Amino acid sequence: MLPPGATIGILGGGQLGRMLGLAAAQLGFKVHIYAPDAESVAAEVTAHHSQAAWDDEPRLAAFAAACDVVTFEFENVPVDTVRFLAGHVAVRPGALGLEIAQDRLAEKRFVVDLGGRTAPFAPVPDRAALDAALAEIGAPAILKTVRMGYDGKGQARIARPQDADRAWETIGGHAAILEGFVAFEHEFSVILVRGIDGEIRFWDSSVNVHEGGILATASLPPPRSILDQQDEARAMMAQIADALDYVGVLTGEFFATDAGPVFNEMAPRVHNSGHWTIEGAVTSQFENHIRAIAGLPLGSAATRALPVVMRNLIGADIAIVPDLLADDRCHVHHYSKTEVREGRKLGHATWAGAAPGASPA
Ligand code: AMP
Repeated sequence: MLPPGATIGILGGGQLGRMLGLAAAQLGFKVHIYAPDAESVAAEVTAHHSQAAWDDEPRLAAFAAACDVVTFEFENVPVDTVRFLAGHVAVRPGALGLEIAQDRLAEKRFVVDLGGRTAPFAPVPDRAALDAALAEIGAPAILKTVRMGYDGKGQARIARPQDADRAWETIGGHAAILEGFVAFEHEFSVILVRGIDGEIRFWDSSVNVHEGGILATASLPPPRSILDQQDEARAMMAQIADALDYVGVLTGEFFATDAGPVFNEMAPRVHNSGHWTIEGAVTSQFENHIRAIAGLPLGSAATRALPVVMRNLIGADIAIVPDLLADDRCHVHHYSKTEVREGRKLGHATWAGAAPGASPA
């Protein structure tokens, strides 16, 4: 158990690190952010900050020496960085989940090996392989880069085989995976926390609505089809967490289909679809992640009151903050990013135990 006053290192300096940092402070810990970027909205609220490259070993070693445990909030931290740090300080969760989640092919194979259900998929290492994959999987399908895709980037839909050239060009000709198009009713996530002793707790699943490939809202209670499939999806995620001997918060994204829950992808970290837990659950995903990696008892993940709605503030949405502040039942989170860009997550708003009042749009 880390004593109060201990220092938690976080790799990555975005809004997830900011909210982890605030939760750590509440529990009496200090936080040290390590990230290469000049702007860090996490470092603004934490005690220590190293702005350095992911492969700067002297800086990494100094960071490890200054921390009692290290975690990450950014899923594209190089695995070598995490392995290097793990030679100097406890890193939780470990590198394995990160390594699998960074590679869409490895991720799908891992889940299938554990008996999970995924979309049909085939590897597409080059353009020629795309034709073979399309012949096997059929259209419609989605072509996704194996690495570095997020928020709908690095993806192209293929409605007919004739779309193959355009799709290959859209994703930049990188090594890819072709997935059969899943006819889903709804999208949902399972967010769990696993302690050092292996105890697992789950938050309730929200229904997640995406716009342009980016999460727009996460709401509870979700529709019946999600409630009916939540237990099976939870069992799948618990199996994954156990197989990885995972410590901390782990997220799985699923499609609710007629055939049951279909695993889409996992994130070895706190997740945007869990931001509602700050006000909507007894213990937030951020606090329980800190508790888990610090070896403290886990807090209850129970939902406090329904309904709950979390809405992302993306790009120009940030201009509605004054309206949201005028809504008595709205909790506003502004990430304090200086640059407003289309598609950039700049904040979020949560209504917990109350439906959104006057339409904020
Ligand atoms: P991803 O980056 O894998 O989370 O994909 C972004 C979004 O694209 C998902 O949230 C879905 O809305 C959609 N999507 C991804 N994969 C599939 C699929 N195999 N079938 C249908 N829709 C998909």
